[in-house]
Amino acid sequence: MTSIEQIATELQGYDPHNISAACVHAFLTRLVGPVTDSQDVAVLDALGRVLAQDVVSPVNVPPHDNSAMDGFAFDGAQLQAAQPLRLRVAGSALAGKAWTGTVGAGECVKIMTGAVMPAGLDTVVPIELAQRDGEQHILVQPSAVKLGDNRRLLGEDLRAGQPALRQGHTLSPASLGLVASLGLPTVRVVRRIKVAYFSTGDEILSLGDAPRDGAVYDSNRYTVFGLLTRLGVEVIDMGVVGDNPALLKAAFLRAAQQADAVITSGGVSMGDTDHTRAMMKQLGEVAFWRIAMRPGRPMAVGRIASADLNNNNNKEHKPESAVLFGLPGNPVAVMVTFLAFVRPALQRLMGATVTEPVLLRATSAEPLRKKPGRTEYQRGIVTRKSDGTLSVRSTGDQGSGVLRSMVEANGLVVLHHDQGNVAVGDAVDVMMFDGVL
Ligand code: AMP
Ligand code: MG
Repeated sequence: MTSIEQIATELQGYDPHNISAACVHAFLTRLVGPVTDSQDVAVLDALGRVLAQDVVSPVNVPPHDNSAMDGFAFDGAQLQAAQPLRLRVAGSALAGKAWTGTVGAGECVKIMTGAVMPAGLDTVVPIELAQRDGEQHILVQPSAVKLGDNRRLLGEDLRAGQPALRQGHTLSPASLGLVASLGLPTVRVVRRIKVAYFSTGDEILSLGDAPRDGAVYDSNRYTVFGLLTRLGVEVIDMGVVGDNPALLKAAFLRAAQQADAVITSGGVSMGDTDHTRAMMKQLGEVAFWRIAMRPGRPMAVGRIASADLNNNNNKEHKPESAVLFGLPGNPVAVMVTFLAFVRPALQRLMGATVTEPVLLRATSAEPLRKKPGRTEYQRGIVTRKSDGTLSVRSTGDQGSGVLRSMVEANGLVVLHHDQGNVAVGDAVDVMMFDGVL
């Protein structure tokens, strides 16, 4: 395992006192690798799970040539450019009930969508384009169809032996359907990772605590819970830990014994009671950064090797190591650093292909102040204008404690590292929350 110190020396332009968001990404990509344990789960338990190996199709999909329309199947070689084709209806083919008779020249078979194409027939004229011609016959106009129309070919979706889904794919509703369509009752998925989290601070109250002077109710544990749950990991809520080195150390140890990753908030700044970093350092390795971004400047990342843990009381689960994310305390900074850094790192830990959020372009409805040399994530409200283009306006106060701004926003305006002030009407990138939050 590469040490944190070694990763730092290998990274171009690594400056912990003013590290770019891109450099943090590169660092975490080197630090966090996938867990390897896997298990077979039933299709209905697989939603949101990550494939541990390719799903190879055991069958052709569709398994036979079949009709894409309700209509009449015939041999398309009989079509002529100049005159309608007159065909006798020899019988009918239903979905799940194939036509087994023979079809001669000048004949067709009435066919329903999904029914197997009778042998020798390759073209379907849709029922609404065929003209009745007496009791037994139809007429097909030359303009109605071409040879091969409205027929789905054996294996046109998937050939037997081909990978239908790739390792690292996170199973969606569509993938559940695809797996089921192959007749596979189970899939092999990566085991669910466990993520423990706690909030720090003497001023932080848990729900149910009586309010007191100078104290605030914990919000970070609840946003982190929501973010982790959406990601599909197993969550371990470890409550609030006061600004006390001994308590913090004990909490980190307990968390790292149980979990693959540990997320804390608060206590990573320069204040007198900011002990989080020092405790990470005592227990394992740590990198502390002042990130060139807003919000979310201070952040600590560390690792505790399992050799450094007394794991006797937890034989069932013994991760090789636990990754530690010491996030800032301010509620918006927690969410933004989670989205920017923790989420992709956890996806890698989960064995998942990292899904970069798709950035949309929107025109700014207001001027935005922005200093080049840092990445800013401003809370925005994107709407569609009458001309069909997207417009984004700010939620107002961008203070990193204003959690309301994250609720009102439907996306983050991403002002990139080198970007400067934005004028009204300038195009900006927006990371929409849909599918991420
Ligand atoms: P810190 O980095 O610990 O100094 O925290 C920065 C700011 O975030 C302080 O105003 C804290 O009170 C606030 N804060 C820290 N943790 C939480 C939390 N879990 N919920 C709400 N606010 C918090
Ligand atoms: Mg604090």
